Amino acid sequence: MDAPTVRPFRIGSQWHNNADPVIRSIYPADGSVAGTVARASPADVDRAVTVAQDAFRSKPWRNLRPDQRASTLYEIGRRIAAERDALARLQMFDSGKPLKECQNMVDSAASYFRYYAAICETWQNEMTSPRGEYFSMSLAEPYGVVAAITPWNSPIMAEAQKAAPALAAGNAVILKPSEETPMLALELARICAEAGLPEGLFTALPGHGEDVGAALVAHPGVRMISFTGGTETGRAIATVAGSRLVPVGLELGGKSPHIVFDDANLPMAMAGVISGIYGSAGQSCVAGTRLFVQRSIYRAFVDELVERSRQVRVGMPDDPAAQMGPLISRAHRERVAAYVDIARAEGGRVLVGGAQPNDSALAKGWFYLPTVIDGLSNRARACQEEIFGPVLVTLPFDDETDLIEQANDTVYGLAAGLWTGDIARAWRVARELQAGSVWINTYKQSHIATAFGGYKDSGIGREKGLHGLRLYSQVKSVFFGVQQKPLAL
Ligand code: NDP
Repeated sequence: MDAPTVRPFRIGSQWHNNADPVIRSIYPADGSVAGTVARASPADVDRAVTVAQDAFRSKPWRNLRPDQRASTLYEIGRRIAAERDALARLQMFDSGKPLKECQNMVDSAASYFRYYAAICETWQNEMTSPRGEYFSMSLAEPYGVVAAITPWNSPIMAEAQKAAPALAAGNAVILKPSEETPMLALELARICAEAGLPEGLFTALPGHGEDVGAALVAHPGVRMISFTGGTETGRAIATVAGSRLVPVGLELGGKSPHIVFDDANLPMAMAGVISGIYGSAGQSCVAGTRLFVQRSIYRAFVDELVERSRQVRVGMPDDPAAQMGPLISRAHRERVAAYVDIARAEGGRVLVGGAQPNDSALAKGWFYLPTVIDGLSNRARACQEEIFGPVLVTLPFDDETDLIEQANDTVYGLAAGLWTGDIARAWRVARELQAGSVWINTYKQSHIATAFGGYKDSGIGREKGLHGLRLYSQVKSVFFGVQQKPLAL
């Protein structure tokens, strides 16, 4: 697929279709140009913030009743769903993810708008019971201009996860997608405009993090920052936000423990482990990347895992039989391969994978084989640092105390999974794991209404559900006096 034209971005009523500089979206499965997008500059950030501030201040959106906002949000969701196939295909070229996964992400994006529309319909403010001659209430109000910055691994879904609640809360949103996957954000902006969202309330600015992202974060007109991406980037953004005293929501990296006890339903656990690591080719913040298996079943479980990993079908994203597509870029594949080399140097044994597939049909893309490594201690770099690829490290454990110590011995705390037939143990261990999401006898399930976010270096704040709406709202308490006499001094 080669798009000859430059896809423009729009700030207010003005289109920007600069032919230079541009961002090229590369199809990771064969290295071809999937699309070319006009690239925003820091000056565009300034313009976009001014337009967004004007749109916010002129009140056509924030002063609507929430149920009136809901109808536009429903319409955005409806239009995303109506364009499902085209959006999913574009997403596939943009990100290299299997088509089916892209379709799920488009469905998910549509459902974020529908869900927050429904919340708008039913949203209630808090009334406090009187303690004097007044009544008081706490109202949720928007911040103003929200900057949303997203990574490349789940375009449109990550973007809708931020845009839908931020708009529902009455804010204006400026979205900077990853330079690797700039195309879906532009489509989302088009759909918002076509659905009747007032001009200037949603702007997509394709650009690089180091200039456009940094300019957004530092801009005095931006009153709230919502970021999903790597922990180090998140830390840099939080530092700037801290000095500006601007609230942040941070969804960051992970190194999630995936735990199998010897009393688990082992076939179910095996399937969960495989989908938990190889889904999205391991390019998932919640991927189960550290496998802890009880020592009594460790060898047999890992042997079978190796065999099953060998059988994972790596293929082109539009091949319905493919279970795993390519990595996002050549540079990222090199980074993943470098981690496997580090693991080897640290004494790890690569039991399967650890290389590119030997398949001429995949030779032009950034594919990497499902990889299992054992023989490392949990302190090894491959067990501590986020690899963000299809690389699983396996570690034995003796008992619950040993397990919890190892599982929590990481700077991250995004997610964890455990498989056991003992409900009391499941509950005990789930409560001890330091993670924002814990899956028991399942893995990587998500629910639009269930809070999502990280402990420790995996983030600050929660998205999804009512938590997601609160993230984009500030609270104003109003006291309404009804006293009959003057207030006493
Ligand atoms: P990065 O942190 O490199 O980038 C994320 C976004 O931030 C991109 O849009 C990037 O721009 C932008 N950016 C980079 N530097 C700055 C800066 N100084 N100021 C403002 N913005 C900046 O992450 P990746 O894109 O590589 O994504 C992978 C990471 O995302 C992994 O660590 C993964 O765990 C995490 N992630 C977390 C999730 C969660 O919910 N917890 C979900 C999905 C991913 P550009 O790329 O255009 O330069």
